[in-house]
Amino acid sequence: MQESHVQATVVCCRQHGLQIRTRSGGHDFEGLSYVSHVPFVLLDLIHLRTISVNIEDNTAWVQTGATLGELYYRIAEKSRTHAFPAGLCPSVGVGGHISGAGYGILMRKYGVSADHVIDARLVDVNGKILDKESMGKDLFWAIRGGGGASFGVILAWKLRLVPVPPTVTTFIVPRTLEQGASALVHKWQFIGDKLNEDIFLGLSIQAMPLDGDHKGKKTILISFLGHYLGSTEKLLQLMEESFPEMGLKKDDCIEMSWIKSAVYFGVFSPESNLNLLLERKNPIPPKSRYMTKSDYVQEPMPENVLEGIWQRFHQIDEPEIIMSPYGGRMNEIEESAIAFPHRKGNMYKINYLVSWKEEGNEAERKHARWIRELYNYMTPYVSKSPRCAYLNFKDIDLGHKKNGTATYLEAKVWGNKYFKNNFDKLVNVKTRVDPDDFFTNEQGIPPLPSLAEDK
Ligand SMILES: Cc1cc2nc3c(=O)[nH]c(=O)nc-3n(C[C@H](O)[C@H](O)[C@H](O)COP(=O)(O)OP(=O)(O)OC[C@H]3O[C@@H](n4cnc5c(N)ncnc54)[C@H](O)[C@@H]3O)c2cc1C
Repeated sequence: MQESHVQATVVCCRQHGLQIRTRSGGHDFEGLSYVSHVPFVLLDLIHLRTISVNIEDNTAWVQTGATLGELYYRIAEKSRTHAFPAGLCPSVGVGGHISGAGYGILMRKYGVSADHVIDARLVDVNGKILDKESMGKDLFWAIRGGGGASFGVILAWKLRLVPVPPTVTTFIVPRTLEQGASALVHKWQFIGDKLNEDIFLGLSIQAMPLDGDHKGKKTILISFLGHYLGSTEKLLQLMEESFPEMGLKKDDCIEMSWIKSAVYFGVFSPESNLNLLLERKNPIPPKSRYMTKSDYVQEPMPENVLEGIWQRFHQIDEPEIIMSPYGGRMNEIEESAIAFPHRKGNMYKINYLVSWKEEGNEAERKHARWIRELYNYMTPYVSKSPRCAYLNFKDIDLGHKKNGTATYLEAKVWGNKYFKNNFDKLVNVKTRVDPDDFFTNEQGIPPLPSLAEDK
């Protein structure tokens, strides 16, 4: 596939009045890269995925059809001490991920993926290829966290790579309620964002069936997911100072290269076969359906509120919550530096997920009701005015265009949650570069009709 194929698709679709949906890795939680209620052309970038890594100047050009796993793999082919800060799941595409921000275990040290974009190539609404200079600073700002789909088709990113030590330490420490997990999560809230920025200590919370005398019942399993940019010895010392209650032991820790840690957290197994990074398979089985929501937490929740979440976990088959600590570099970057705004003041981010295998509307209604009720239950304990959400965990419940359009005020309902005060600037950029809303989707940034007429 050539860049010119993308240009031709844009020009042709515009001429014939057809919408396009651009797909990179296809991991959009609402399927907005490949599902719509209107006829559209699916622009699949799977064959636009060349990656060239330049270790001498710490950069890489990556075409947007590539996945995170492919990017990590190509970096590691050239160096053990270079990395890129992005998500855990290797099959996520760089097109959607980086234009929506992109976070992972290096977030506390280096910020989000979009913080490390130093140039980009984009096909605009006229089919022209623009780079950082020719697109201008506002459009370059918008595609770093504002979602690429509202502004054009991003062909490639130029990324700044970051340094990592030759050996990092990882651990996955499981604790059940019977082992005091509630008190540990409660304490974690006070220290997760304040730990040394070389440590990432995230939580995955799941319901787990019990064996033996308790067969048929479930408990809650909290997995502490740890990554440290250094040796086990130093990590144990830091954890003993900050979080002795967790009781991290030497035997829990595994030292490995950064790239092996990407495999470890990507497929949750100490399997060291790097080729797993090249598989484009979504880890969520194809027959599974799922729904997600996100929140930002700015004050610790009381322990009884956490227990209320665990109780809800008993009502459904496959619930999961992921809590990702902020702090470190995330506190230092201004909210308006790029379009992604969620920085200082957040202690951690929550990603709620429910998946199910049953077919049919009844199963869908049941699981949707469950996750919506959990989201309502969390209202008093999460960010307010606006209640913020993460664009890459797209959630159509937050609002969407009706019959393909939304006024500024309608779109502000979800726009404020995803972009806070950056929403207005995104609308202005949109109005300037795509006044007729050719690059549209159900939750896209709308142009302002009055400004577009002035243009
Ligand atoms: C299993 C799983 C694990 C995940 N883990 C993480 C994680 O660790 N960290 C994190 O931050 N997020 C994570 N996510 C969320 C993920 O970052 C987003 O869903 C992201 O948008 C997916 O990008 P994609 O290219 O794979 O998706 P796609 O479905 O291809 O695209 C997503 C959106 O971006 C648009 N888009 C894609 N490519 C382009 C392009 N080239 N130009 C313009 N617009 C484009 C699409 O039109 C769509 O609107 C995860 C998602 C899943 C399903």
